[in-house]
Amino acid sequence: MIAPRLEINLKKIHHNARKLVELLTERGISVTGVTKAVLGSHEIAKVLLKAGVSSLGDSRIENIEGMKDASVSATMTLIRSPMLSQVDQVVNHADVSFNSELRVIHQLSIAAQKINHIHGIVLMVELGDLREGIMPADLNNTVREILRLPNIILRGLGTNLACRSGTIPSTENMSELSSLVDSIETKYRISLDIVSGGNSANLAWALSNTNCGRINNLRLGEAILLGREPLHRQSIDGLYTDAITLVAEVIESKLKPSQPWGEFAQTAFGKKRLEADRGNISQGILAIGIQDTDPSGLDPPSGINILGASSDHLIVESDVSVGSEITFQVNYSALVRAMTSPFVKNIINS
Ligand SMILES: *Cc1c(COP(=O)(O)O)cnc(C)c1O
Repeated sequence: MIAPRLEINLKKIHHNARKLVELLTERGISVTGVTKAVLGSHEIAKVLLKAGVSSLGDSRIENIEGMKDASVSATMTLIRSPMLSQVDQVVNHADVSFNSELRVIHQLSIAAQKINHIHGIVLMVELGDLREGIMPADLNNTVREILRLPNIILRGLGTNLACRSGTIPSTENMSELSSLVDSIETKYRISLDIVSGGNSANLAWALSNTNCGRINNLRLGEAILLGREPLHRQSIDGLYTDAITLVAEVIESKLKPSQPWGEFAQTAFGKKRLEADRGNISQGILAIGIQDTDPSGLDPPSGINILGASSDHLIVESDVSVGSEITFQVNYSALVRAMTSPFVKNIINS
């Protein structure tokens, strides 16, 4: 069969999405299905919608455009602040965008007026992870400005934790978001219908609470696609961790010394420490490498150890035969790189 390839099991993705939607619905939280890791795959997007996600989110407007072209019908949210150079595309294809810069929102307003659209804004608030978001102290003034802009509607507030600094979503930071929503609603006599508390890293917080305050939305990618929460990379009870796997083919199999010989300088990708000498070992090479995936994010079947990788070669310890295939579970970074490599094909099993 064609290799390397990502095998995508739509039934398992549906199961994962359905389960998370059910658990969060009990807590008054809707799920935005995040499709960026699968480049806005329309097959996967349709499965997420069937499983009950309330909307789709992607960080790239091109992916949203692609899903619309493939007749995926859903509320589309751009979950990264728009580039000024893309505001026309954004108001054309996304119903809502996440924002943290007034200059950008201003240009979205102008772009939306040109095509007579109303564009929704979720204002991102910084709560400690130091990625996107306005500082809470600037919230009042920013909201006042947004409310003045034509063809722009402030749909709600959001925050994003864990991704950059590893800040854990907690009772404290989630309560702060709830209070900010309350205070804005009171001050400006408006009601905010979206309070988006975060990503897959928020699951532990959400599932261990029966009262989630004003938070009524989470944006989930990794938890649905890989069945894991990103804080400790633990598998989530009842979810599949192998809904998407990576398959590569063996191109060499030899008995070789465990230690290299000669004098040593840098490898193709920097320094490598010397392994302990274990005599001769079974060494296999797979036709996949750093150009195609993140080898450190591959989880091999038991009995197979990953020894190293270069651009086009993955070296494993195992007695494998040439032409045979090995299936790996993937983490987020291995998945994203494999998805974006033109050399890795996608095989979708429905
Ligand atoms: C990528 C992303 C998500 C989804 O994150 P997962 O960990 O895959 O659930 C949610 N929100 C924002 C702003 C993102 O960039």
